[in-house]
Amino acid sequence: MNGSALVKLLLQRCATVNHLKQVHAHLIAHANNDLFTLGRLLNLLCNSQSLSYAQSFFSSIPKPNTFLFNTIIRAHTTGPNPQNSIFLYIDLLKAGILPDAYTFPFVLKACARFQALQEGRTLHCHALKFGFDSYLYVGNALIHMYSFSDCLIGARQMFDEMALRDLVSWNSMINGYAKCGDLEEARRLFDLMGEKNLITWSAMISGYVQMGQFKEGLDVFYGSQACGVKPHESILVSVLAACAHVGGIEQGKWVHAYVKANGMHMSVIMGTALMDMYAKCGCLNLALDVFHSMHEKNLMAWTTMIKGMAMHGHGTEALELFTQMEEEGVTPDDITFIGVLCACTHAGLVDKGLHYFKSISEVYGISPKIEHYGCLVDLLARGGRLQKALCVIKDMPMEPDARIWGPLLAGCRFNGEVELAELVANHLIELEPNDSGVYVLLGNIYAASGRHEDAKKLRILMSSKGVVKNPGCSLFELEGTTHQFIVGDTSHPQMREIQEKWEEIERVIRVEGYVPNRTQVLLDVEEEEKEEALSWHSEKMAIAFGLMRTKGDHVIRIVKNLRVCSDCHHVTKLISKVYGRQIVVRDRTRFHHFKEGQCSCNDYW
Ligand code: ZN
Ligand code: ZN
Repeated sequence: MNGSALVKLLLQRCATVNHLKQVHAHLIAHANNDLFTLGRLLNLLCNSQSLSYAQSFFSSIPKPNTFLFNTIIRAHTTGPNPQNSIFLYIDLLKAGILPDAYTFPFVLKACARFQALQEGRTLHCHALKFGFDSYLYVGNALIHMYSFSDCLIGARQMFDEMALRDLVSWNSMINGYAKCGDLEEARRLFDLMGEKNLITWSAMISGYVQMGQFKEGLDVFYGSQACGVKPHESILVSVLAACAHVGGIEQGKWVHAYVKANGMHMSVIMGTALMDMYAKCGCLNLALDVFHSMHEKNLMAWTTMIKGMAMHGHGTEALELFTQMEEEGVTPDDITFIGVLCACTHAGLVDKGLHYFKSISEVYGISPKIEHYGCLVDLLARGGRLQKALCVIKDMPMEPDARIWGPLLAGCRFNGEVELAELVANHLIELEPNDSGVYVLLGNIYAASGRHEDAKKLRILMSSKGVVKNPGCSLFELEGTTHQFIVGDTSHPQMREIQEKWEEIERVIRVEGYVPNRTQVLLDVEEEEKEEALSWHSEKMAIAFGLMRTKGDHVIRIVKNLRVCSDCHHVTKLISKVYGRQIVVRDRTRFHHFKEGQCSCNDYW
């Protein structure tokens, strides 16, 4: 047996890095410089997670060939310093060695990892010069590099010029568009594509979800189901995020059942996504069930559950969970404290909130961010301690912005502080002149205190600045389909029936003493239209539809984009009593569970 054959045999038996090091010593001792043998050892070292050893071994080889260069370049593309791949490529050229068709995909992948567009472009030129640009793998690597370096024009040019494309080419291009938020173009290619695989579906679904186009994301998911695609975890996690946003509880439950039925591993990511979906769809108990069933809970899981509890107004329970988390040795981060402070705010636990705020820096050594100050101002302002809130703002280490003045304005409305509200609203209008919410809130405060002239002036100011109001929109899911109701939009196919149902509801609740609340006017509504406009806030349409289409103890769950107005809040309480139905409304900041004429927020929102 010659030396190389022996080494080959030895390498086959190597089980650890130490074994490989022993073979390396053997090669040195026998002055074995057979490039084929060295290549084998280098390859094994690169695959054994000891990149630095592999690199020093490579450096000791006197005349490496292209194969050896490719091996070490490839190892660095996924290592901690992908730029080393580029340095090695330069070494290769300096040594007068020719790159081959394998060299380019590796170096380009490294460029993509740290968005080295300039270097990537140079490599593109080299690939042309050496005649490898027409190779499918090189073309795909170029598309990947360009799209990851946010140069979609370059990626598309490459894609269009390719004589031959495969699934990877299409997927890279779609991924590039989806990642940059150009979903229209991504979708155009997606629709043109023949065969699709999991990566294709996943890119399109997560692209939509990340850009907040949840309905479209869910539609693509249904499409994948119709094609018999077996979704993997990341697709299901995207779907759950979409369900959480649109309140799609049935679809979300389907995902949960699918995970169970297919024996999929309940990872922390999947468990957390399920908890978040259940909590945001108003099913706190189901969120808790998932939470308790999780074998492994990380900080994200705990934080999601604490925030879920807070949103539902279960402040005390959220804080108990926080204590339990600490007892289990999980250290909170800044996001956890947002949940903790929200818990205190929604449950009106002002002193507890102050205590936790102090502990953020004093106990945990985290410097509070502006979001934490926003929570603190919210807590104090809603708790009626407006002067204290002002002191906090004055002493803050950073410049207050809308995240600070916004909650203070809401607190002014809550406490009927008109003068302070004017001051705060002016700050806000200066900071964000196009945010309709500020004008509407101040207008409501004026109207509530009978200052209709001021409300009118504000309306004129608003239209002169061209500020457009954010239309109220409520979502209601029925048998897996989401129905959307927008204020002033009568395009729903069952609008006539909904209207008739609402008239019936109003007759019934008027008997119970309902008088439309005339103070909650929207700014561009004239006095005589108030009552009619009030009846048509989007959640009223959604509730009427829900009562029409569901029976018995079916809980009506609604997701609304704006804060619930006090008229709608009052009406919903009455409906829950008269019709004996549970209604759960998620508004912009929290949940309201209406039951037997009461709301879980205790009218504190
Ligand atoms: Zn309303
Ligand atoms: Zn409420």
